[in-house]
Amino acid sequence: MQEILILGNGGAVSEGLPYNGFVIDGSILVEAPPDIMPSLRNNRIDPHDIRVVYISHIHADHIFGLPFFLLQRFMDDVRYDRHGELSVIGPPGIAAHCFALMDMAFGEIPAVSWMRRCVDFAESSDGGEIPLVPACRTTCERMEHFAPTWGFSVECSGSTRFAYIPDTLWCPGVVAILNRGPRHVLIDLNGEADDNVPVHICEDELVQYLERADTDTVFWGTHLKRDKQSQHPNIRYPHPGQRIRLA
Ligand SMILES: [Zn+2]
Repeated sequence: MQEILILGNGGAVSEGLPYNGFVIDGSILVEAPPDIMPSLRNNRIDPHDIRVVYISHIHADHIFGLPFFLLQRFMDDVRYDRHGELSVIGPPGIAAHCFALMDMAFGEIPAVSWMRRCVDFAESSDGGEIPLVPACRTTCERMEHFAPTWGFSVECSGSTRFAYIPDTLWCPGVVAILNRGPRHVLIDLNGEADDNVPVHICEDELVQYLERADTDTVFWGTHLKRDKQSQHPNIRYPHPGQRIRLA
């Protein structure tokens, strides 16, 4: 595992930021928000190069772009004879959600029978391992959000190189991931200290954790309402198109 490419850093409601999503090593797409196709194109990622799609939870800003992605892959397959492996990993019931979404999006089109034949599905589970990054151990942790949501950490060659903490409050799953000592963490920092109803982690909570923990982990805040900057040396806010080197 070498590199993360940030496609977007926006939450469900933002001041026009591209929606949160990223690509690992050019071939693993994490989240499929509504603008995923322009985001891939703007960042020169060929949809055909994606072999795994990871969906953290069934909310529109994380999966509503999937029908367009699947339609593109289907058309590449049948029109241009471009075959490639593709799996979708997500919460329990992800396959049924994908077919329901495809049906709502396009109805009974040939892409649906292609999905049945050509797309594999796998499910996240608490503490379970998923086949996300080749030659690395990817472990899921349950987040605390309105919909069942899973983040993950990726361990390569004995060290936890990267973790993703999607939409959540500070919760045991977040602590479990951080206790593995990841070098880089992409984390939902959509919360604000004065939120009436907290739904997302805010930077102050992360700063409090950093004051307790002796760590050189770098945190990259995403899923934002607007662009932010941090004064804390361990916290950064990546921009769309930014590449994070993990090695
Ligand atoms: Zn979200």
